[in-house]
Amino acid sequence: MKIITLIGTRPEAIKMVPIIKDINHTNIENVVVSSGQHEELLSDVFKLYDIIPKYKLNTLKNCKSLNEIISFILINFEKILDIEKPDLVLVHGDTTTAMAGALASFNKKIKIAHIEAGLRSFNLESPFPEEMNRIFIDSIAYLHFAPTVTAKNNLIKQGIKPHNIFVVGNTIIDLVKFNLKQDIKLKLPDIDEKRLILLTTHRRENLGKNMKSIFSAVNILLEKYDNICIVFPMHPNPLIKKIADETLKKNKRLIITKPFNTIEFNKLEQLADIVMTDSGGIQEECVFIGKPTIVLRTETERSDGLKSNNLFLAGVNTNDIVKTFDSIATDNFSNLKKYKSSKIYGDGRSSERIIKIIQKSLN
Ligand code: UDP
Repeated sequence: MKIITLIGTRPEAIKMVPIIKDINHTNIENVVVSSGQHEELLSDVFKLYDIIPKYKLNTLKNCKSLNEIISFILINFEKILDIEKPDLVLVHGDTTTAMAGALASFNKKIKIAHIEAGLRSFNLESPFPEEMNRIFIDSIAYLHFAPTVTAKNNLIKQGIKPHNIFVVGNTIIDLVKFNLKQDIKLKLPDIDEKRLILLTTHRRENLGKNMKSIFSAVNILLEKYDNICIVFPMHPNPLIKKIADETLKKNKRLIITKPFNTIEFNKLEQLADIVMTDSGGIQEECVFIGKPTIVLRTETERSDGLKSNNLFLAGVNTNDIVKTFDSIATDNFSNLKKYKSSKIYGDGRSSERIIKIIQKSLN
């Protein structure tokens, strides 16, 4: 039995790590292919977890637009499919890599397994183009691994046959559990006993005026609360640095860093008092860790996370973000203990379940 695991970006790699590791202990041959859609962040994850892709496509170097990425992957991934002739291709989530890889496989009549199937924001423009990618991949996949019952119900509404849908939890929880057990020395920025606020923002639909509005909220919060320190590991997209340079006011309690590795980042999430993010994966991690998290987006496909009471959908308007922060930081941050870990996204055994189902299905 041979499968191909196709990965293009940091979050896909992070969420595929548990499967790639566990599958090594089975009779399945797994060929890892990197599309290199996020070259730098992706290779950091591969290094951290000792993963060596057999094939690397230089997508980022060769393509700029989404359509270039799709056509580049279609053509080059097809060549790999012709050489390897896998029984199944594993794609994750909602990236352009996953979408193009699934389409290339479909056209060659190769079965597709979709991990993290069924997430929906019900708005094709947010997240863009991810919402379309998910719907598209789900419409051609053979095995659908849904993280939650909500995701399963979304798939059923799309017309996917229930017997091809498996609710398995999210593999990110497998990795967070592993990461939090690692004994590492976290080189934490010097925050001098202040409240630690962890910030990330990178979404394509936020690049531009939304990100300016998020950064204006950061400026206001730093002025309003002299007992907070905001740590902002900045995504390497140069557009983000440009907007940050234009908007963020210099403040010694605003610490802009390079991205942390994922073990460090999960530990930082655990240490933080409040997280502010427009990331998808970070929402899931913080729900599991039990951290109040301000979601810097107008809608989230992580609707289950909202039920855990750890996520606050603030939107991207400056005042709304500040108000949401105020509502969490009440009584000088004395209410933070009420946020508890939730298993809504799984118990850390998703990868084990996924591999068993794949084995059964390929047999
Ligand atoms: N992450 C990381 N280092 C950082 C910031 C984030 O390892 O400095 C990890 C984080 O733990 C999560 C993932 O990156 O697992 C989220 O990726 P991202 O926000 O890029 O994408 P999304 O989840 O929105 O698709």
